[in-house]
Amino acid sequence: MESRSIIELSNKLLIPTYTRFPIVLRKGRGVKVWDVDGKEYLDFLAGIAVNVLGHCHRKVVMAIQKQVQRLIHVSNLYYTEPQLNLAKLLIENSFADRVFFCNSGTEANEGALKLARIYMKNKFGQERFEFIAAENSFHGRSFGSLSVTGQAKYHHGFEPLLQGIKFVPFNDVTAMEKAITDKTAAIILEPVQAEGGINIPSKNYFKKVRELCDKYNILLILDEVQTGIGRTGKLFAYEHFGIKPDIMSLAKGLGSGIPIGAILTTEEIAQAMGPKTHASTFGGNPVACAAAVATIETILEDGYLLDYAQRMSKYIIKKLNSLKEKHQEKIKEIRGVGLLIGVELSINGASIVKKCIEKGLLIGTAGDGSVLRFTPPLIIEKENVDKAIHILNSVLTDIQ
Ligand code: PLP
Repeated sequence: MESRSIIELSNKLLIPTYTRFPIVLRKGRGVKVWDVDGKEYLDFLAGIAVNVLGHCHRKVVMAIQKQVQRLIHVSNLYYTEPQLNLAKLLIENSFADRVFFCNSGTEANEGALKLARIYMKNKFGQERFEFIAAENSFHGRSFGSLSVTGQAKYHHGFEPLLQGIKFVPFNDVTAMEKAITDKTAAIILEPVQAEGGINIPSKNYFKKVRELCDKYNILLILDEVQTGIGRTGKLFAYEHFGIKPDIMSLAKGLGSGIPIGAILTTEEIAQAMGPKTHASTFGGNPVACAAAVATIETILEDGYLLDYAQRMSKYIIKKLNSLKEKHQEKIKEIRGVGLLIGVELSINGASIVKKCIEKGLLIGTAGDGSVLRFTPPLIIEKENVDKAIHILNSVLTDIQ
């Protein structure tokens, strides 16, 4: 089928939740994808921070193929080896003692909120149920995750949402302390606000938030759905801040594109979620777990890729800063941690993204649309960066 027919028919058949660009992608390898007409694109969005090892990484493909031939699904009424292998890997390499597997970021956050509530109610009483979240945060689209998402545009039309949620400005410890009451159960934050505009907290923010949580006996939930699995140049972004969360949610990069999410927590907190309190039919599916094991093992092999991603981050940011010098009237600021990088514009980003795509570069926007979002695979090479910068430069030069 021709790309035009695929687009027209899809637009008729799918519930129109997405504003899609008019390209039909068929194949991917490494940092590149190709559309049905054979046109090549550099993928600097990587499925919105999902394909950490690039497209169709050999080790991930092999792990999936091997598992698909052996066992695809059995339910959580039984044990499987891939689930155990993934749990072990996550626990060995994080603060956590226990893991729950699900299928997406919103589902991981949904479970994290439920876990925090039941633990806090059991320990401190029924009144301990409120959450504090940040303005401009993004935690997902299901009702719980949506309720702690601090962006009114996503709430519109779906109210009433969950009760007992307070929003405070991100990176403001004083506002956070003021919002705490004897009803607060947990604080939920992204280490770096991604969808909200690539907002990076000041160096000590999370240390201070952790101190508040300890002082007032409140749980700290870190949503590492976008920042986790190497995205920021550490396996988990909390490692940058010298703190540990009580609960952490993961998804996106975890399965290299195979849907999987996870909730990680400590032994004590995990005990609050006994049999029948929470479940997921597909959660911890053997194929998804095999993909995730291959992803994490590849990232951690020789400790090379995380350092490499940090070096590439510096290289991209340096190149973007030289673009900023050149296009001062259009670029306001470059900010990023690892390969989660934002370019704040003084013009709207949507037309830039569109023109970049036409020229073979996939990027996205964040925040109110004035921030360009770069989340390339960790395996990106300098040559790819130079090409992407060349495209962005020509788009910025042409655009009025
Ligand atoms: N949390 C964060 C920080 C995210 O960036 C996202 C998605 O962009 C989500 C949660 C929701 O994840 P999903 O789309 O897999 O439900």
